[in-house]
Amino acid sequence: MTSHKKIESEPVDGVFRENIPAIQDALLAWFASHQRDFPWRKNYVPYHIWISEIMGQQTQMDRVVDYFLRWIDRFPDIEAVAAAQELLILKAWEGLGYYSRAKNIVLAAQAIMKTHDGQLPADYAKLLALPGIGPYTAAAIMSIAFNEDFPLLDANVERLFTRLLDIAQPVKNGRSQSLLRDMAQRLLPGGRARMFNQALMEFGALICKPRNPECSSCFLASYCLALERETVEARPVRLKKGKAIDIVMACGIIEHQGLYYIQQRKPDGVWGSLWEFPGDRLKQGETPQQAARREIEKKTAFIVGDLQPFFVVVHHYTKYRVTLHGFTCSLVGGEGTPVLNAALQYRWSTGTGLVDYPFPSGHKQLVDHLLKQQHFVDDLPDL
Ligand code: SF4
Repeated sequence: MTSHKKIESEPVDGVFRENIPAIQDALLAWFASHQRDFPWRKNYVPYHIWISEIMGQQTQMDRVVDYFLRWIDRFPDIEAVAAAQELLILKAWEGLGYYSRAKNIVLAAQAIMKTHDGQLPADYAKLLALPGIGPYTAAAIMSIAFNEDFPLLDANVERLFTRLLDIAQPVKNGRSQSLLRDMAQRLLPGGRARMFNQALMEFGALICKPRNPECSSCFLASYCLALERETVEARPVRLKKGKAIDIVMACGIIEHQGLYYIQQRKPDGVWGSLWEFPGDRLKQGETPQQAARREIEKKTAFIVGDLQPFFVVVHHYTKYRVTLHGFTCSLVGGEGTPVLNAALQYRWSTGTGLVDYPFPSGHKQLVDHLLKQQHFVDDLPDL
């Protein structure tokens, strides 16, 4: 209750308290005519809402659509997920990153088959007990799938509220979060959480955007303290991110009799269970070429010929900027059977066969580049 008292002292509170029903109606009406046509919004199947919410973590919803449709096509229900091969799950997730999310979906699906008759439970505590479902996702499923009165605060709603209230403190600090939670709770119209939560998130995503929000046509403008104080662009206040850490890696694309060597990482770590070309980070004073050769020898014990620069991929993660130098080379002698020092298993794959395996983004780009070149060679006319 302390936080409730604090918010009562916010200048905007009086205006809001008087106009909450009008604001609710306006947002719901706006959502009814402006919502994006997302496939999980067709029938609000709880399984669909769950998958879309997990996919939407760290990924723009517009980008999620293709992944979602492919996933539902391959795994139409929870039973199919629970029984799926890990390779197919990771392949369907390839490019979304944070692969532990996909692995947790499988673990949760297996638990749901075992203890909830294959149905997502409409119970916050039971959802929270499932692997990969935290407080936000549980509240999202409860409200959007089951229309239960759970408020939601995603980044879009946080931005909208920090502007309406003109919160000048960092959005993630305790005081700000308490104000935001209180606001979300008080704005939620009973029995309409499904549409209202989505209306808030959609409004934040489409109108109260991070840059160039559409204030001139915004029907909440008369309640917006940041607009009045001309602080819109400065809200929300975020703590400065540290500079991205640079990581330089190198790997070898080993070719032997028209096939390419790939290996599967052990299950732990960020890229656990994904496939890759043998490689790793550069050591102090090493060139990418030296690192690729060292890693090939260390991870496979293969002897390879000259390493030819093939392609350099730069990939940005939240905290890191990874530069991956890919080299091509051929096996010199030997049968092509590696000594697996750091992998679960290996394959010699055709170029086109590589697309069946899930790779981390950097290696996937090397595969795409390899296939582009092959395609080009295949397309050359016979002379
Ligand atoms: S007036 Fe501008 S900043 Fe304020 S809620 Fe509307 S779009 Fe967001």
